[in-house]
Amino acid sequence: MNKIIKNQKCDCGGGLKKQGSCRRQGNLVPRYKCIECSKFISSQRKYQKMTPEIKKSIIRLSCQGLSLHQVADKVGYSHTTVANIINVK
Ligand SMILES: [Zn+2]
Repeated sequence: MNKIIKNQKCDCGGGLKKQGSCRRQGNLVPRYKCIECSKFISSQRKYQKMTPEIKKSIIRLSCQGLSLHQVADKVGYSHTTVANIINVK
């Protein structure tokens, strides 16, 4: 059963579904496939691409009273990453 991933989108704007996994630095990383252009995307790539805009939206969302997990869900990062960003002043 393939589930469409809600929090992440392809560069083309298409939805992603889980499609196997790959090994990176000894860790098993889930791999996603775009349902529009069939491009493969691994979740690892997204974590490496933290932009100031995303940091700003994380801080903005947390100021609106959302919990760490709710903010993490919205931006598509892990809650530990979100916690790191909020705690760095
Ligand atoms: Zn795509």
